[in-house]
Amino acid sequence: MSIYNISAGHNPAGKTACGAKGFLDESKEDRLITKEIIKLLKESGHKVYDCTCNNGTSQGDVLKKIIAKCNQREVLLDISIHLNSGRNDKKGDKKIAGTEIWCTEGSGIKKTVSKRILKNMEKLGFSNRGLKTTNGLYYLNHTKNRAILIEVCFVDDKDDYNLYQKIGYKKIAKAIAEGIIGKETTKQKKLEYTIVKRTSSRTAIQWLQKKLNMCYTGKLLRLSTDGIWGKKTQEMLEAYWKQLGWKKGSYAGEKTCKALYKNRKK
Ligand SMILES: [Zn+2]
Repeated sequence: MSIYNISAGHNPAGKTACGAKGFLDESKEDRLITKEIIKLLKESGHKVYDCTCNNGTSQGDVLKKIIAKCNQREVLLDISIHLNSGRNDKKGDKKIAGTEIWCTEGSGIKKTVSKRILKNMEKLGFSNRGLKTTNGLYYLNHTKNRAILIEVCFVDDKDDYNLYQKIGYKKIAKAIAEGIIGKETTKQKKLEYTIVKRTSSRTAIQWLQKKLNMCYTGKLLRLSTDGIWGKKTQEMLEAYWKQLGWKKGSYAGEKTCKALYKNRKK
């Protein structure tokens, strides 16, 4: 489990100090992408703080508020999501302008994560403009944690816009999220039960019986999954503990439930 700060750049669309506008609206898209990245990282078991500012009174104020949120805690990485502008390719020249990432100094985790993101974006068709260094960005200069700023693609390039529309922000967010954590984002299934006793509900005991049938590999006959804690259920639970090399207990506690959950057949 890692901790991250993520923020979408600028104020919301339509407000003062909002982002760039072209075929795409930066403030609108960067918020969609940011929310989706946060969702994916959380589902993968990470802690993420949304440091986006939606009520800045000026560009400077937006930045200050983002930084104030970012610097509240120590995180593995601070990430800011932006969309670029400046291509002014209204007709489309068949060239994707693509993705670039900024940092103050490209080493360690900043470099590793950025390279992965750029590679993932390349796979989606966005040209790799590289990891670039600058001392001119307020966000990068004032975050106390290590930080990167991602320019996803260009709002004013017809080719980028067409690709963006084709791919959709969700796949882009996934490419970035997987670049951040360095592996696929997968929903972590929750443990259904952390304790099952003789007096537990029928469904809880049925769960235990099903899991025991799957995980216990000894000679005892499979249990009927009737949700009644009888002699046979007790017997198989004890045999399962023995199989794991554990001491006998009287009910399935968290350790047992976790083992049954982990060892279940897929
Ligand atoms: Zn921006």
